[in-house]
Amino acid sequence: MSDEETTTIFVASRPTTARWWSKETVAIVTGANKGIGFELVKRLAELGLTVVLTARDGGRGLEAVRALKGEGLDVHFFCLDVSNPNSIKTFASWFQHTFGVLDILINNAAVSFNDLHENSVKHAETVIRTNFYGPKLLTEALFPLFRCSSVGSRVLNISSRLGMLNKLENPKLKEILKDEENLSENQIEGMLNLFLQSVKNGTWKSYGWPQHWTDYSVSKLALNSFSKILAKRYKGNGTSVNCFCPGFTQTSMTGGKGIHTADAVADVGAWLALLPMEKLQTGKFYVLGSDHNRSNHSKM
Ligand code: NDP
Repeated sequence: MSDEETTTIFVASRPTTARWWSKETVAIVTGANKGIGFELVKRLAELGLTVVLTARDGGRGLEAVRALKGEGLDVHFFCLDVSNPNSIKTFASWFQHTFGVLDILINNAAVSFNDLHENSVKHAETVIRTNFYGPKLLTEALFPLFRCSSVGSRVLNISSRLGMLNKLENPKLKEILKDEENLSENQIEGMLNLFLQSVKNGTWKSYGWPQHWTDYSVSKLALNSFSKILAKRYKGNGTSVNCFCPGFTQTSMTGGKGIHTADAVADVGAWLALLPMEKLQTGKFYVLGSDHNRSNHSKM
């Protein structure tokens, strides 16, 4: 995905969206016991959708649900560890039994084990399994349940600018990922295997992988590329697949540092997930811009 293909959104310049959804509209958010995921659940519940808050840890998930209940919001809860295929299977089966149909899936859960200026790849396998295979397997498991109505079903992958193609320096890999017409799932998984292999044999530093938070960036690079493939695959049945990079946001992942609050990010994320049908696109990469730097970017 190249820079030219991103669409920058500014909090202040978002048009309001006429309400097309109702309590019948069902949304799932992964990794929602804290951070951006928690705020996304809160925003969608405030807007009147039926929302399923998922978390890998039952205690932390229920604590989050209690906090929302305290604010008068009613959400559903189920345990979901996106890095565990069995957990995905159990969740999909519970969801099918309980709700039957799905309108919005927000793949938010992710991990990074590095402090802001560190770049260890000690946990590369977990990072790839959680940040890439998690959303991939979950989306595939839930795909048959998408309602596919006239208002469209939606997948929003919370991703990162760190996974943009311009962060990759290896020319051969760049060429493969740039060729969206011919890019295949196998090629993306091949790249991930190559990365994990280069970590194992200690050559990863000289391979031209992204230089900051390398394992995390590679996982998001794969997610961005796979989203393009899914967007093409699902277009025919009215399901959009887009990515959203919130930018540097104050959450546990950044040790509380950042230029955006999770609350502001969720406001924009919910807005993107709820775009009206005539504005809903697919295969897009949205980034949240800073309103301070607004003059440097084109408006939506
Ligand atoms: P947080 O660390 O605050 O939240 C991450 C959430 O994901 C937590 O709820 C965590 O659960 C959950 N999670 C981790 N692993 C799993 C798993 N295996 N199964 C299910 N849930 C899991 O981070 P953010 O809120 O900042 O991150 C949200 C999204 O935003 C991520 O996709 C991230 O990559 C993206 N992002 C964030 C940026 C930032 O600056 N903050 C910038 C760009 C993108 P637990 O509490 O149990 O660990």
